[in-house]
Amino acid sequence: MGGFLDGFEVGNKKGIEDGVRFYSILDIGRGILEESAYRLKSIFGENRILVLYGKRKSKEFGKLVESIVGKPHSDIICVVSVGGGSIIDKGKFLAKNMGAHFVSIPTLISSDGIASPIGVKYGRSFYIELPFGVIVDIDIVGNAPRWSILAGTGDLLSDLSASIDWDRFKEKSSEPYSFISSLICKSSALSMLNFNPFKNPESLVWGLILSGWAMSIAGSSRPASGPEHKLSHSLDLIGFGEKHGIQVGFFTPLFLKLNGYDKWNDVRKYLTNLGFPEKITLKKEQAYEVFSRASSTRPHRWTIIEELGWEKVLEAAVDMGFIELV
Ligand SMILES: [Zn+2]
Repeated sequence: MGGFLDGFEVGNKKGIEDGVRFYSILDIGRGILEESAYRLKSIFGENRILVLYGKRKSKEFGKLVESIVGKPHSDIICVVSVGGGSIIDKGKFLAKNMGAHFVSIPTLISSDGIASPIGVKYGRSFYIELPFGVIVDIDIVGNAPRWSILAGTGDLLSDLSASIDWDRFKEKSSEPYSFISSLICKSSALSMLNFNPFKNPESLVWGLILSGWAMSIAGSSRPASGPEHKLSHSLDLIGFGEKHGIQVGFFTPLFLKLNGYDKWNDVRKYLTNLGFPEKITLKKEQAYEVFSRASSTRPHRWTIIEELGWEKVLEAAVDMGFIELV
């Protein structure tokens, strides 16, 4: 029997879903930054919070939060990141090293890193822990550059490919499978297809947050990172230079198709209508390099790429017009 509930064990013997934590602070809304900063102060106390922010746009918002919570004088019990992906990653690692709580205040919604337990350092992913809090001011992230919203949408939709792939190859995967986290990831990606992220940034924000939570239930990034992520990491290795969310979103319909998901073309149309590229042009040698190296970017993870072999995947990508070889 092959179906949606395949492999689901009632009572989950391994219990990876036991003791699941949720964010202790989750503030999502328009114009809430100031109010949320006061809330942080009331939870952690004055001068106990270290606020990190970037040099440019996020500086203004970071300074505002800092002016409310105060600069830390004594022991730091909370690290708050106000900014994009790299500031958030920095905060996650710093909080972990200091034994402090971490609160994420993204100014861009370009990936699920805004609410995930995963931190990225030197191109490698590390499982840290679920952020203590996530605060998203929709006025800020909704007015951020267009690419960030597009990239976030790609990263969210890639959950569909990642979790369908996980469902299929869970037996061959070294990471413990979680039906619940796979279900959460699939549902959040699918529900996004009903919205335009530029008109409804809230939907994107909620999807990315649920995706982050699903990773903490699974204890790994697997529900949100499958074959499309492997190819994207491999593109990064040749310095392709497109945003993470754009790359993973771009490859999503290809892997949906290869995993037998019949509505893969609806996903492709949705993405191209939003402004995703229709194809990527690569030199033959580059394409061989990218596709043959994809598996080694996350070697412990069995996906359709390992199942079929990279040559077949490349052939399909060319046949379906995702890759143009020159
Ligand atoms: Zn991703």
